[in-house]
Amino acid sequence: MVVTYHRPTRALIHRKAIEHNIKNEIMRLPKETELFAVVKAEGYGHGAVATAHIALEAGATGFCVATLDEAIELREAGITEPILVLSVVFPSYLSLVLDYDLSITVATKEWLEQAEDVLKDLNSELPLKLHIKVDTGMGRIGFLTEAEVQDAIAFIEASKHMLWEGLFTHFSTADELDTAYWERQNTRFTNLLNQLDHLPRYVHTSNSATALWHEGFTGNMIRFGVAMYGLNPSGRELEETYFLEPALELVSELIQVKELPAGEGIGYGETYVTPEKEWIGTVPIGYADGWLRKMQGFYVLVEGEACEVVGRVCMDQLMVRLPRSFTVGTKVTLIGKNQGAEISMQEVAEHLGTIHYEVACMISERVPRIFL
Ligand SMILES: *Cc1c(COP(=O)(O)O)cnc(C)c1O
Repeated sequence: MVVTYHRPTRALIHRKAIEHNIKNEIMRLPKETELFAVVKAEGYGHGAVATAHIALEAGATGFCVATLDEAIELREAGITEPILVLSVVFPSYLSLVLDYDLSITVATKEWLEQAEDVLKDLNSELPLKLHIKVDTGMGRIGFLTEAEVQDAIAFIEASKHMLWEGLFTHFSTADELDTAYWERQNTRFTNLLNQLDHLPRYVHTSNSATALWHEGFTGNMIRFGVAMYGLNPSGRELEETYFLEPALELVSELIQVKELPAGEGIGYGETYVTPEKEWIGTVPIGYADGWLRKMQGFYVLVEGEACEVVGRVCMDQLMVRLPRSFTVGTKVTLIGKNQGAEISMQEVAEHLGTIHYEVACMISERVPRIFL
């Protein structure tokens, strides 16, 4: 999708906010614990490469992504720090992994065996850097038992083509008030650690929520994702450990303002009819920008005032009910602050019945990300 610069709709990304969030986290970490910035999914919709550079300046020493292509994008952009791919990369792509000097995740014995065959043929001088993933209760990817992990370690260490660089797990409930399931996962992982006679370079368990709310987490590296963008991982359930400053604002402008008499339909399907004489404004953002049709009934901010989205959201535009006339070109805020009022990503998520992670990811590629 072409990025549309010649239109007033923009995602503004505040560098200072990202820096603030990372620096505050690093201050809390033990000295030997590193912060890897998670910039998967285009940096949670904020822009992966630009965010990665900001994170580096703020003190991140490595990166996590979800896919091989995301890792390659960072390398192509000049990032030389360690990059860990968190999801599974098929062994058929291992030459790329080696060429780009990436670290990847191993979650099964079959994968190791297939990888060994591929690596023998590649005959690379550099070893493949592997992080062993342990499934302690997320049920997604990873080895389940200590025996499986021991076996994987032995396999990697016996291989001339592999290096055991990391061991990690992922918590499924670290953002909840009830810590019982987190404890169970943590116990499983620490029990495993106690059984091993040596450990790799990186041992890591913490996403943002674990780093923020579980002092007893294990490891010498954290995978810091959503909180870096200034979003509370728990939504509203847990109080922020320090102020998380939201990095993204979504703004646009009124492109037409008109006064309509009573009885006029607004948008496709005539789902809203003016009950009386009303000022209606048009905003150039729609579902193709990720501003879903479900946003009908939510609101935007114009000069600090909440204005309801009326009628169906179109592909490229939507209409709002204005309290009075405004000039064309007046700023419209869809996420962020506007003259003392604010719409948070959390509020948008609540309107949609989802989490802010999804809202950040749904703002489409058509909307330019402008770094301030
Ligand atoms: C996405 C992800 C993270 C980051 O999670 P946040 O909640 O955004 O901090 C960490 N670890 C793994 C394995 C992930 O998939």
